[in-house]
Amino acid sequence: MKFIDRSKVPVPEVFKSNRYFRAKEKMESFFKHDYKQSRFEFDASVWLRAREDIINLFDRKCAYCESPIGHTSTGIIEHFRPKSTVIDLDGTQSDGYWWLSYEWNNLYLSCDVCNRHKRNKFPVDGKRARNNESLSSESYLLVDPCRKEDVLSAGFYYDNKGRIFSRARAYFVQFIAQRILVLCNRRTNPLFLAFAFDLEHHTHIA
Ligand SMILES: [Zn+2]
Repeated sequence: MKFIDRSKVPVPEVFKSNRYFRAKEKMESFFKHDYKQSRFEFDASVWLRAREDIINLFDRKCAYCESPIGHTSTGIIEHFRPKSTVIDLDGTQSDGYWWLSYEWNNLYLSCDVCNRHKRNKFPVDGKRARNNESLSSESYLLVDPCRKEDVLSAGFYYDNKGRIFSRARAYFVQFIAQRILVLCNRRTNPLFLAFAFDLEHHTHIA
């Protein structure tokens, strides 16, 4: 997976606009209350106005499988951490990362296929960050293409017992495994493929 350096594209103007601040204010006031009573309508125009910047940031390629956008897909702006509902490895659902809905750093470019497979999946190992909590201590299980450590280490990390795990596990098992055929056909990265097949059969390594 290729590392995407987000600093190469300046934060789009829409994230400094009244539209952004108004949308954010409305969202925050909604989620302060008993928001499970009704469903919040996010203002998609905020991220849609950043569409060209997102496409440029990801070099017109899907953030997950690197398929060129425009060949088989027009490209979907996707929230890396899902905004409304989130699904864990065991299929349990909980509230999404609503407070990141309008955040530039949470917007990724996805092809139709990866978007369809990923949907609201965002498995974590241990505690999930809740309402505005910091994300730094969250052990997410997907490989983040915008995080150098994830890309360089192929998503390996140590747990508190010193065991080595791979973020890629959930990534492959849950949706990238379904993309292997596509990747095989492209024959772009045999090492990546060997790794993918290996991880499909191992919960953790060592
Ligand atoms: Zn894709």
